[in-house]
Amino acid sequence: MKPSVLVAEDEGALVTLLRYNLEREGYRVLEAQDGEEALLVAAEEKPDLVLLDWMLPQLSGIEVCRRLRGRQETRNVPIIMLTARGEESDRIRGLDTGADDYLTKPFSMTELLARLRAVLRRIRPSLAEDVVRVGDIEMDRAAHRVRRSGKEVHLGPTEYKLLEHLIQHPGRVFSREQLLDAVWGSDVYVEARTVDVHVGRLRKALNLDGVRDPVRTVRSAGYALEDGVTAA
Ligand code: CA
Repeated sequence: MKPSVLVAEDEGALVTLLRYNLEREGYRVLEAQDGEEALLVAAEEKPDLVLLDWMLPQLSGIEVCRRLRGRQETRNVPIIMLTARGEESDRIRGLDTGADDYLTKPFSMTELLARLRAVLRRIRPSLAEDVVRVGDIEMDRAAHRVRRSGKEVHLGPTEYKLLEHLIQHPGRVFSREQLLDAVWGSDVYVEARTVDVHVGRLRKALNLDGVRDPVRTVRSAGYALEDGVTAA
């Protein structure tokens, strides 16, 4: 699955340049030409990262950033602000609002791509790398393999997708509904307890020879994958 990047920018020439370079690097590109559209596309398409221009028509980039952070479904999306201004106070305001990084125009594509990879690696390691590790669990997405403490773990397709989702956000608790949306898709009707069944299978497959259980059940809230530092 290619990571998707929402480019919220009203300068056509820059959008063309960004699209060309991002697609060449293997990203899927979504576009929005003003602030309102950026919010709509972000809510509908759930991009993996947002490149957000500071000066946008309708709603400013800073306001878009604030609203993205205020909504459940976009709260955690990585945001890189693009700004034409160089003032330190503006930069700080940008980060205060919840942006993960910022770039001052004009910037080189090499720098943009490096920052983008760095933000993705920090926030969603599995999008930037083929091999993701959490504690003693290793997931190789290119080879479609999972190992625990070096031993091969065999997972069914649903358990694999569950682990793939959980491993992207170690420690974060997901409700059954969120896991249903992420693994089965929001247009499929599946009962919430189906999630419990598959989490049970995932747990069983991962827990070899009585080693620590990395899947944490949070009563009436959901499930999380622990990295081994925070869990007993
Ligand atoms: Ca602009």
